[in-house]
Amino acid sequence: MALWFRRVGQLLAVGVVCVATLWPFYQVAQQQLTRAELARIDAQPGISRSSYQPRLDQLQQTADFSTLASGEMAGRRPGQPGSELARQFLQRRFTELGLIPAGTDGFAQKYQTDGQSDGVNFIGKINGTAAQLPAIVVTAHYDHVGVHQERMYPGADDNASGVAALLALAAYFQAHPPRHSLIFAAVDHEEQGMHGSKQLFAGKVLQPAQLALNVNLDMLSRDTKAQLFAVGTYQHPALLPLLQPLQQDSLVALRFGHDRPATLAGRVQDWSDASDHGNFAAEGVPFVYFGVPDHVDYHQPTDTFERADIGFYHKVSDTILSALLLLDQADLTALRQKTDRCQRGDKSELVK
Ligand SMILES: [Zn+2]
Repeated sequence: MALWFRRVGQLLAVGVVCVATLWPFYQVAQQQLTRAELARIDAQPGISRSSYQPRLDQLQQTADFSTLASGEMAGRRPGQPGSELARQFLQRRFTELGLIPAGTDGFAQKYQTDGQSDGVNFIGKINGTAAQLPAIVVTAHYDHVGVHQERMYPGADDNASGVAALLALAAYFQAHPPRHSLIFAAVDHEEQGMHGSKQLFAGKVLQPAQLALNVNLDMLSRDTKAQLFAVGTYQHPALLPLLQPLQQDSLVALRFGHDRPATLAGRVQDWSDASDHGNFAAEGVPFVYFGVPDHVDYHQPTDTFERADIGFYHKVSDTILSALLLLDQADLTALRQKTDRCQRGDKSELVK
């Protein structure tokens, strides 16, 4: 017993010495990877255009953004009165937009989660002109932190901005019919475990095999060096040639990144599972997530409508519209097939 005890002690000591010796090398390697990844991101093309003819209804979009971020809606936490107001608002706006109800109870999909307040997703559809094509699902979560420990977190950027953009995009495509069917889903409970988007599949509102792509919108209104990230081209390199023309002719600094593992990107965060698109990825559905970098007001009571950069927000929204138009014109069946091959283990597709 004593010998066994000594052996374990010796092994532990050797382990500690090894870790202590290698730790500085690991730190240096992480720093180098981080620097290289930041340089890769910074080397991507910047803004190439400053003026544009607005295609989205910016007045309506700003009004929707302001309403969702208002003190009345109080951060839209499921179970709190502000969430109920947000649900009534979404029911009304989906109806006004004339979308095809695609929930389980009209636009709504009500669901229950263990130990949490009941949730409601809102799902509406626009039929594509090419009926045989798989659908593109545009998602944005409407819930936020709400009133917590007597402080109100209005969640303007996160994610009233994404929901108002989703509504503006839906209005655009009602007037300009897409080839692919478009499904617009404003989902609940993202901040508390991403249950809303999970329920889209669990409740059979969406069938993974019938979907081409998820375009997720989460945080679009804060200007940090005019950057907008498109996350997911690492997982789905076939998206790159589709979106690169947009990067070459852009109102914002469109960046491909925040989707690589730490072994490649060091400490540059991997957002490939950071919002509702993660649940689409888990179902084998390709995704691209649009969002701005985190900022000082992220998940703070100061994430208010007043602090949003409205001019930048509209440029971001116009850029996402351009992305959707490019994606709608593309052969997304091929993208889906490549993703399926990756999932079966052919990782060669992952190497850029
Ligand atoms: Zn969010």
